[in-house]
Amino acid sequence: MLFSRLLSVLPQPINIPTDQAPAVLPPTISTFIAAAVGISEAHVSSFWMRDDIWALPPQALTQEDKELFRKHGWKYGLTSMVMYPPSDFCTNPKCGRCKPLKKVHAVQIIVYTLASGVVPAWEVQLYCLDCNTTYYPNYSAQHGTRTYHDGDIPQYISIGAHQYTERQLIASWISYMLITSVSATNCSRAYDMGTQNPNAVFGSGTG
Ligand SMILES: [Zn+2]
Repeated sequence: MLFSRLLSVLPQPINIPTDQAPAVLPPTISTFIAAAVGISEAHVSSFWMRDDIWALPPQALTQEDKELFRKHGWKYGLTSMVMYPPSDFCTNPKCGRCKPLKKVHAVQIIVYTLASGVVPAWEVQLYCLDCNTTYYPNYSAQHGTRTYHDGDIPQYISIGAHQYTERQLIASWISYMLITSVSATNCSRAYDMGTQNPNAVFGSGTG
């Protein structure tokens, strides 16, 4: 159900179970859900306290759900996209910490996507108190040295401070540059035109 899907991606304190209703309903979340679902805030409050809703298995957001975040949530800092480091544990082989990383820091970022344009998001950072390593979604950093996580190229790639780009978008830019010799600058301009003001691509159209 829509109510449950929207709740599944909203930020919650990490020290409470995810299958039980949190005691506090933040006002911004209440206002967002009421507007997105089309119900009163009184109904949001009563749904919020039902454990059966929180016990539902997580479901993927639809494109329509993401649009609800764009329309009703972004102004409150609520977004459908949150990026986490790939593990809750310290992966430094020289570190003996076995407990999950607890210290959490969230930074607001923007993500350039292929299908949805520019999307605001949160980047969650974890910190190991034992070896002073900070874990980001793409890499870890210790004493000024950055180490990228093992594995496949991630779906979202950090391209600068507080900015990520979707891997498929980068692939499309590379294709344009290789096949049509379009410059990186013009790839960026085309992306801006197509995502931020799609009508500009087609002109005013009024003749
Ligand atoms: Zn560590």
